[in-house]
Amino acid sequence: MKSYKEIVLRPKKDESLKRFHPWVFSGAIASKPDDLQEGEVARVLASDGIFLGVGHFQIGSISVRILSFRDEPIDAGFYEKRLAGAYKMRRELLLVRPDNTTYRLVHGEGDHLPGLIIDIYGNTAVVQAHSVGIHKDRSLIVEALKQVLPADSLEHIFYKSEGTLPYKAELEPEDTYLSGGEGVSGIAVENGLKFHIDWLKGQKTGFFVDQRENRKLLEYYSKGRHVLNMFCYTGGFSVYALRGGAAKVDSVDSSSKAVSLTEQNVSLNFSGDQRHASCSEDAFKFLKQIPQGEYDLMVLDPPAFAKHRGAINNALQGYKKLNLSALEKMAPGGILFTFSCSQVISKEQFRLAVFSAAAISGRKVRILHQLTQPADHPINIYHPEGEYLKGLVLYVE
Ligand code: SAH
Repeated sequence: MKSYKEIVLRPKKDESLKRFHPWVFSGAIASKPDDLQEGEVARVLASDGIFLGVGHFQIGSISVRILSFRDEPIDAGFYEKRLAGAYKMRRELLLVRPDNTTYRLVHGEGDHLPGLIIDIYGNTAVVQAHSVGIHKDRSLIVEALKQVLPADSLEHIFYKSEGTLPYKAELEPEDTYLSGGEGVSGIAVENGLKFHIDWLKGQKTGFFVDQRENRKLLEYYSKGRHVLNMFCYTGGFSVYALRGGAAKVDSVDSSSKAVSLTEQNVSLNFSGDQRHASCSEDAFKFLKQIPQGEYDLMVLDPPAFAKHRGAINNALQGYKKLNLSALEKMAPGGILFTFSCSQVISKEQFRLAVFSAAAISGRKVRILHQLTQPADHPINIYHPEGEYLKGLVLYVE
């Protein structure tokens, strides 16, 4: 077996690993070899020499991301085993269907593969590395993917890590096809609806796969309603609302690129449908200028307001202000879908921000549903940091 270099922890710093939390913080390390390279696989030992786990070493506050709590090599066989487990679970969850070819195959720590995201769009896999070690192992991962997914469901593999790797690591990753790329269609199906997915230039891997179930719930409530999809991006919620029988749907995003992606996706499914309109405008400005009672179903799905702990207070103020603007304008009997995808903000904090907005608005507000991320974005119970998406569905009188 390949012998890996060893990192030894300080006394008492082994407890979180013994509870299967997959991160080793830099302050926990007592010693490591001087020649240990960033991205290299290392064995992590407790101060008494007991083996704890094997993972990728990286410079920064999280020094090791544990890939396995067993003493095993991190090779092609390892990735194949992990990916096979992830694919089996998606199939068992009935996410892999002819009318649903869009799903997340690997969700980092939630699939025991810290640093790795793989989204599937039809016959294309988009692979994203969030750690130097995963970047260095990308060929092993691509080979494992080819072994695990049926050949006819995997024709293209796009690697998209330019924006997700630490720039100090000087890896110069390239966003590029690692397999296929010729004649790729870019169209995938989610719950029977078609979406054009732009993994080359789009945000994240090109699409927000994590809102699939929440879009379906919105579809259910859309019949006859006048819908505002604020922060529409690729128009996911808009297309579901149209299928749900909405009277009218307005999609708004500050980015004109996003608005044109939305238009494209509406046309793909409901070509020429006069119920849909879109505009490129700032959310706060738009909400300020609309008349009270214009909409009776609104979606607020903003980008993460807080990307790190230091930004939490400002972000909470932002959520409060945004939700207040929507609640003030909602028609009586209206429904508000409101979200936060800030990982550092807890669901209690988010709910408190929305509570403050409700109280200031003076509206009678009840919580109908509390939403989260779907089953293909599982949360490793030993790694609560994996929980990031939270939403509330409110009935506003
Ligand atoms: N709801 C979408 C995802 C939203 S992503 C979906 O289901 O796919 C967040 C979007 O907010 C981005 O498209 C971004 O362009 C937009 N955005 C960011 N700041 C904004 C602002 N101040 N006003 C309006 N849109 C904004």
